[in-house]
Amino acid sequence: MRFEDLPTPCYVVDEALIEKNLKILNGVMQRTGAKIVLAQKAFSMTALYPLIGEYLSGTTASGLFEARLGHEEMGKENHVFAPAYREDEIDEIISICDHIIFNSFSQLAKFKGKALQAGRKIGLRINPECSTQEGHEIYDPCSPGSRFGVRRADFQPELLDGVTGLHFHTLCQQNSDDLETTLNAVEEKFGEWLPQMEWINFGGGHHITRDDYDIPRLEACIKRMQEKYDLEVYLEPGEAVALNAGYLLTSVLDLHENGIDIAILDTSATCHMPDVLEMPYRPPLLGSGEPGEKPYLYRLGGQTCLTGDVIGDYSFDQPLKSGDRLVFADMAIYTMVKTNTFNGMPLPAIALQDKNGDCRIVREFGYDDFKGRLA
Ligand SMILES: *Cc1c(COP(=O)(O)O)cnc(C)c1O
Repeated sequence: MRFEDLPTPCYVVDEALIEKNLKILNGVMQRTGAKIVLAQKAFSMTALYPLIGEYLSGTTASGLFEARLGHEEMGKENHVFAPAYREDEIDEIISICDHIIFNSFSQLAKFKGKALQAGRKIGLRINPECSTQEGHEIYDPCSPGSRFGVRRADFQPELLDGVTGLHFHTLCQQNSDDLETTLNAVEEKFGEWLPQMEWINFGGGHHITRDDYDIPRLEACIKRMQEKYDLEVYLEPGEAVALNAGYLLTSVLDLHENGIDIAILDTSATCHMPDVLEMPYRPPLLGSGEPGEKPYLYRLGGQTCLTGDVIGDYSFDQPLKSGDRLVFADMAIYTMVKTNTFNGMPLPAIALQDKNGDCRIVREFGYDDFKGRLA
């Protein structure tokens, strides 16, 4: 099937672009010996897990269900972190995860025995209290009052028995200069206990596959931990694996005017690209410009009843008309994993574009997917 013939709305993931990202990540692994695992919460397209597994060391999960997905669909190293684990899920987690990371000393005390008995590696998430991002407080685990990780003041070294690794995750879409700053804070606050560890996990938020990302600086950070403390280094990016590697294809359903020209699309910000509203950000749209850049300006909005279901204002060379197809870019990450059926909105199909440009629909959704989540 050709790209032009795909139904809308539809997510289309480009295999060649995913592989390009994977090669960059694998290069870091090859040159440094660090291990990189996929943070599934950003991108869980299982049809691509065999390909991802050729290049990366495995998966990481935010809880039992993602852990099961990684175990079933990739079957390589399987890590997990959750702010707290439930008693009724911990046995299954232990049975399928090799690295289990705890958020507190109380969680550690509660579940450490079982995990160690099963031969699992145990880690503790630390909070280096080093904010390196501005403006995105909901994405900053070092923000005041954050529930993530143990702070230096609460650290209880006498309870570290059995803990072989420390984990931090403080970045979001950042470059390696911020990693370096964070690593300095980690060393300053927790360096005393690094010699007794076997591994360290730098978390996610590293935009390694972005054009301006400073890879040599990342590799220097990795080598510093390897050489100074003899640690095995893990990274668990999500975004970087599928950055700029997918699209959301949509059609114009109707046009009208209310002080500004408005186009209603067969997609929805709140249902199909919620980060547009949550983050918030304006997704790139192929062939369009900023307001004022091209002659025809439109506000693009979705089909739901939410007044704020607006993707943004975009300008075009030609007037839009009903039936036109629009292509939003960078729609592989934090999209398919976040969709919902608010207003009974249909879920976009999920398609894969292979290296020859041929497209294949991997999954389509219908009324049953909406009804099946209600009772
Ligand atoms: C979100 C998250 C990641 C992945 O972050 P990206 O920004 O997608 O790279 C990795 N580890 C943890 C603990 C996370 O919460």
